[in-house]
Amino acid sequence: MILSQMTWKEVDAASRDAVVLIPTGSLEQHGPHLPLFTDTLLATAACDAVEAALPERVIMTPAIWQGASGHHLSFSGTVSATFEGYELAIRSVVESLMPHGFWKFYILNGHGGNVASNYIATRRLKEEYPDLLIGHSDYFEHIPEEVQKDVMEGPVKSIKHACEAEASLMMHLHPDLVRMDLLRDDGLECDPPVAGMTWMFDAMTEEGSLGYATLGTAEKGKRLFEEAAKGCVEQIRRLADGVVLKQREPRS
Ligand SMILES: [Zn+2]
Repeated sequence: MILSQMTWKEVDAASRDAVVLIPTGSLEQHGPHLPLFTDTLLATAACDAVEAALPERVIMTPAIWQGASGHHLSFSGTVSATFEGYELAIRSVVESLMPHGFWKFYILNGHGGNVASNYIATRRLKEEYPDLLIGHSDYFEHIPEEVQKDVMEGPVKSIKHACEAEASLMMHLHPDLVRMDLLRDDGLECDPPVAGMTWMFDAMTEEGSLGYATLGTAEKGKRLFEEAAKGCVEQIRRLADGVVLKQREPRS
């Protein structure tokens, strides 16, 4: 079910065991080769795949596109929410639909800058409303590690930013939006390396991307997307079926 296309009576008649699925992204610079809406388009595509596979068990909301992108703001066109604003947008969805009886919520995210806020938003909501079932993950993390390693030729085997993975996914899903003649490898390294440093994107890149976009292909994007979609569908299917906490197997 797609919330924006339903009438209120259809929502009223929907199962309360349906998972409210919230795509989250950004409107932020993605180098010279990908559009600002990349993260939102990719998170929405993953949620579309989940909704298509489980149409009666999911209510997909429109994407929350205003992500926490303060670290990209020096690039023209980036529109960021504050951390608080992003968290409140999530909260608004949950607190609107909860009184209608929905109690399973899941955020499927497409933007790295939202991850910390997703942890905080879901933990705060769970503390306030213990009966909620709520969780979050990034669509990309549901691609098995061995597939990521197998697909990506560059030295970076995970998703970064406007990189081999994101460029490939966009070539597969939205080829008309990829500036193929402007693909660029970019990204500076901390020297000497120090774990966990926080950088702004204009300092850690030359033109905004981080990774090896020149290695991107639509074929790679198709494989990455199919694996991501399969993994996301499985997560949401389990949540729709119902989850409990049970005792682990005793140590033998
Ligand atoms: Zn991105």
